[in-house]
Amino acid sequence: VGTDVFDEAVRSTCDVASHCKRYAVSVGYWKDPYIEYFVSHPKERKAPEISRGYYARVQGVGRLLKAFLEKTKCNCQIINLGAGMDTLFWKLKDENLLPLKYFDVDFPSIVSRKIHYIKSKPPLSKPIMESHLGETVLIDAHSLDTSRYAIVGGDLRDLPKLEEQLKKCNMDPNLPTLLMTECVLIYMTMEHSIDLIKWVATTFRSAMFINYEQVNMLDRFGQIMIENLQSKQCELVGADACRSLETQKERFLQNGWETVNGLDMLKVYQSLPPDEIKRNVQNSLITSGNCPRKDKVWRGNGTFQGSTERSVPELDRG
Ligand code: SAM
Repeated sequence: VGTDVFDEAVRSTCDVASHCKRYAVSVGYWKDPYIEYFVSHPKERKAPEISRGYYARVQGVGRLLKAFLEKTKCNCQIINLGAGMDTLFWKLKDENLLPLKYFDVDFPSIVSRKIHYIKSKPPLSKPIMESHLGETVLIDAHSLDTSRYAIVGGDLRDLPKLEEQLKKCNMDPNLPTLLMTECVLIYMTMEHSIDLIKWVATTFRSAMFINYEQVNMLDRFGQIMIENLQSKQCELVGADACRSLETQKERFLQNGWETVNGLDMLKVYQSLPPDEIKRNVQNSLITSGNCPRKDKVWRGNGTFQGSTERSVPELDRG
């Protein structure tokens, strides 16, 4: 199986993530008025554990991000690497929390889809134009550049080119910079993810890196890759070296980072506001109660079994 097929399977994880997020938003786990413009309503219901996992992920990343924005008083830039259909730019704008510049980066084909939605949907394009101070907006199939928001079509494995593309959009290495990889590094080889981590450590004067990814996924990940590719490519990805939080931390400490903190997602989930968690559990009972699942999680009468509000949120491959 060639790199193209492998890359296509990696790109398809963008749809998995955005469909799961769209579903969780549609049943009330969190608010995101913009995701519906990027993703149609999923036909299939998702298990509550999946929605809870995404809820914890989005809230956990959001909290760290807001702490950074607060600390820098928004005099900073945010670079979302492997952003997929992420709607963070619009949400931050609504909350009056835009950094000086916000960048989304993904493969060119993903980016061109995102730009197409933006161009054709005023609820997406209007906020971008409102935040734009210059006269002309640079926009083509694979990139968009305004004074506060840029979308860059590139490859995280080609760092010299990526740096050049970002600089063209006025990325400033001297500004405090937040880089995010939400479920992205796991789809890169260990070598490429290390290069990226090192590049960030050496390129920006002051930076914070939020990395969300699965640990100890070797079996599961192997299965996913085999399912997608029927190949041995899974041996090339970074999963093997990310067996635990400790190895994750080491990966950063050995590649230019001064301090690293790691949190287990169960802890993140348990630290979220209890009334929100309770509301979400009730929501998932109601939404799934109309259409009980036949697997072991649900009884025929729609009551919830084997999982409480403290249960482990599930991670899926997006
Ligand atoms: N971060 C988004 C989220 O959480 O909703 C999307 C996550 S999705 C699982 C992984 C994303 O990383 C995909 O959109 C994929 O195209 C992107 N990605 C993976 N490897 C990449 C690479 N080498 N260059 C650019 N984008 C990449």
